[in-house]
Amino acid sequence: MSVEKTEVAIQSPTKKISKNPKRPNAFGKCANVFVKLYHRACSVFFPSNIKCIVCGDDLKEKQDIEICDKCQCKLHKITESECCARCGAVITGQGQYCLNCQNTDREFDIARSVFVYENEVKKLIAGLKYNNKPYLSRTLSNYLAILYKELGWQADLIIPVPLSENRKKWRGYNQAELLADGLSDLINVPINTETLVKIKDTEAQASLSYLERRKNLRASFKVLDKYAVRGKKILLVDDVMTTGSTANACANVLKKAHADRVMVLTIAHGVQEIPTQNKLKIAKNEIFG
Ligand SMILES: [Zn+2]
Ligand SMILES: [Zn+2]
Repeated sequence: MSVEKTEVAIQSPTKKISKNPKRPNAFGKCANVFVKLYHRACSVFFPSNIKCIVCGDDLKEKQDIEICDKCQCKLHKITESECCARCGAVITGQGQYCLNCQNTDREFDIARSVFVYENEVKKLIAGLKYNNKPYLSRTLSNYLAILYKELGWQADLIIPVPLSENRKKWRGYNQAELLADGLSDLINVPINTETLVKIKDTEAQASLSYLERRKNLRASFKVLDKYAVRGKKILLVDDVMTTGSTANACANVLKKAHADRVMVLTIAHGVQEIPTQNKLKIAKNEIFG
């Protein structure tokens, strides 16, 4: 279909078509086509509907958080008073730190998550990750920005947790990069997506011991440009934190490249399996034994 035909086809039926329209020059035509393609791509990746992204109900107006009040009430937002001072996991009972932080080394300085990783939050993240709905990152980035401002953190540089090339090709995008990109615009902190890279896949780790897993994960991340992170306060962004081992591995290589501080922000924190004393003993023996 020619450009002219496309233009006529998208005219509103009530809109009068001028008999002597100004003919755009070649450059103008190219620009028009480019703008249309861009808007079409945006509507696929970021549909501008005003529906709740959780229940699908209509929202009264366009809003930064595209979730209706009813659904927002159902999401478990983590508060400072209920979470581990270091990793942000929800803890029950007394004490400042969760068992994981008490018993294993943490290489990041601090981590916080917006929600508990359960129910609707799980579905949203699955949509972003596996159901090819990258536009969900728009609302989720807004949640990250709100939390960042509430915490009063001051970062110099945002770095998303990278995916390996294979995984990124398979998914078509890195969900952490989408979240970090939106956050960068909202809090006005630059983003770097090239310095921290994942050089090997670490999906099949189940058969490895705790120490082997840790070693394997550490060896899978690399900082390509040390000068980009040297002396900087890094804000590492990811979708979910569970045990914190990925954040730890990234922080390890960033600190080796002389990053000043590594703060971690994620959408959700997985509910931790509370390690029994026996498991802790085994983990300790693997680390220190
Ligand atoms: Zn809703
Ligand atoms: Zn903790």
